[in-house]
Amino acid sequence: MSNPHVQDSAFWEAAIEHYHWDRLEAAYAAIQQRGVGEAGTYIRWYRLIEAEALSRRRSKRTKVNSWLTFECIPEDALRDESDLIAAAVEACDSIAERLGWSHSAPTLISVLAEEVDAPWATNPYGYYVSKELYEKICLPAYLVEDREELSEAVAHEYAHVISETASDGMSPAWLSEAVSVIAEGSPDPEALRILADGAWLKPEDLELTLDGRYDESNQREVWLAYQQCGTVGRYLSSLKGEPKLLDLMREHTNESVWRNLWLSLRGKSRVDGAVEAIYGMSVRELHERAHEWLRVQEAPKP
Ligand SMILES: [Zn+2]
Repeated sequence: MSNPHVQDSAFWEAAIEHYHWDRLEAAYAAIQQRGVGEAGTYIRWYRLIEAEALSRRRSKRTKVNSWLTFECIPEDALRDESDLIAAAVEACDSIAERLGWSHSAPTLISVLAEEVDAPWATNPYGYYVSKELYEKICLPAYLVEDREELSEAVAHEYAHVISETASDGMSPAWLSEAVSVIAEGSPDPEALRILADGAWLKPEDLELTLDGRYDESNQREVWLAYQQCGTVGRYLSSLKGEPKLLDLMREHTNESVWRNLWLSLRGKSRVDGAVEAIYGMSVRELHERAHEWLRVQEAPKP
């Protein structure tokens, strides 16, 4: 008899493969054979595929320029979608300029249908997926009502596109979030006070918190983790400016055999090597110094 778990994982692998090619109808048709009740540990995939597939059915795609395509449901957009497109392009241009990035990676920005709110349980402000044909940014429909919030979400997710492309997907989540959180704009003053007072995670715990699932029970923890990443990003920017963050991302792709051997002999990863090469300190030192820098800024002024 065949092992049902093996069968199950092969089935999901095929559906997820369709998803990564953005063949959403095929992915959705496959998972519907099983139904949501049988999704089990794949429930998150189920919701993701369902949300993107149902949105695709009613949406219109506009090729904006050589690198950007915009997808939304015209009836949901509340107004002419050209206004949304303009806001999205402006947000992408602005963070690209800050980092000294020239747009290159083909990118699809997709505003999902109003009725598909399910994936937002894990990604309330949008998410980014590197698909085979393009980098895809998905945004919740409610963002179209508020241009400022839409711009912040696009800036955050497009900064992930930049980080992922520059580092070839090798930077850790805390570093990618460091760039994305500063892309959004000003930090949250309340979070800064809490972090300065001590709720500061070690890099490995920060990574675990970002990797975990977002739900009502850990909302505050996740919010602080993102703000901590943003603090690290601002600290790095204070040292050498924002464009240096791009050098840091690119340094992850350094394929020097000797350097990578040297790193692995010392039990270090690529991010350790990159931070050391660009900023002359270890990852641990970076996080400690960023915390100290925040404490000084948040200390009561005489
Ligand atoms: Zn992010």
